[in-house]
Amino acid sequence: MTDLVIIGAGPAGFSAAIYAVRAGLSVRLLENSLFGGQIINTPDVDNYPGLPGISGAEFAMKLYEHAAKLGVEPETAAVSKAELSGDIKNIYTEKEIIPCRSIVIATGASHRKLGCPGEEEFTGKGVSYCATCDGAFFKGKTVAVNGGGNTALEDALFLSNMCEKVYIIHRREGFRADNANLEAARARDNIEFVLNRTVAEIKGGEKVEGLLLSSTTGQPDLELVVDGLFVAIGFHPNTELFEGQLELEGGYIKAGENCRTSVPGVFAAGDVRTKEVRQLITAAADGAVAGVEAGKYLA
Ligand code: NAP
Repeated sequence: MTDLVIIGAGPAGFSAAIYAVRAGLSVRLLENSLFGGQIINTPDVDNYPGLPGISGAEFAMKLYEHAAKLGVEPETAAVSKAELSGDIKNIYTEKEIIPCRSIVIATGASHRKLGCPGEEEFTGKGVSYCATCDGAFFKGKTVAVNGGGNTALEDALFLSNMCEKVYIIHRREGFRADNANLEAARARDNIEFVLNRTVAEIKGGEKVEGLLLSSTTGQPDLELVVDGLFVAIGFHPNTELFEGQLELEGGYIKAGENCRTSVPGVFAAGDVRTKEVRQLITAAADGAVAGVEAGKYLA
């Protein structure tokens, strides 16, 4: 019987695996997408202490190697169901049912969608959620980034290195992004801010050709000619599998600094947990706490 199943192999999941296996637990680490989580989309991680300038992909590779060195080989497996209650819990994947004694949920969060006409139709045809993945397709072109957080600003800065022009569309004048990112964007000649606007429609034929923007301050609609739109309006937590089984708050799993959820033996770590600061380092820290707490629970 597996002591601990970790669902999600991002920084929180890897960190939980490293701490749990070093505490002597048998561990399985499951991931339904790419090992490393959201961080693989970040070109430069400049705020993880001790590793300035490391790329997100390189960081993810280091996480993988570290866990593998300790004997935890992350597995590609989509979890379709999880039975959380009781002393023996069950995780269902497409291949098997895994009984286990404790669980760390580190499923992170997914890109929020705009929900406007054209978004689905043009996804992959000019609409993207990942500047680092798709930016190179827009070399020398005009693109827009929607959002006012660090992701949007960093995407715009990254794209401005290769695109002719980058619009940052944001629904108000205040930004969630750090001042450093804002100042850097303001200093770029080819970045233009389009404020107090939301994307009402994405237009085009075969590919994206333009955007219809609504005003949040009662101004007339505005048409913007662009070749691409990068949507960077935040994330929503991946908690659908667990709804009705443990306490959620605003969609996030309710858990304090000790990562304990409302169900004994089930821990939440990283972006999926209720918390103030969702960063790489806080996800990794959560994983450490959850790994230790799982050990304490099993003892
Ligand atoms: P975020 O901070 O939640 O920002 C989302 C942005 O999208 C906000 O400006 C929000 O506007 C806007 N927005 C939300 N829903 C919208 C909608 N339906 N239509 C139009 N605009 C909408 O998300 P994020 O930028 O992805 O960042 C997520 C977390 O990761 C944050 O904690 C961030 O600091 C962190 N992060 C850090 C770094 C770094 O430190 N290097 C890099 C990337 C991300 P309002 O402001 O009006 O709500």
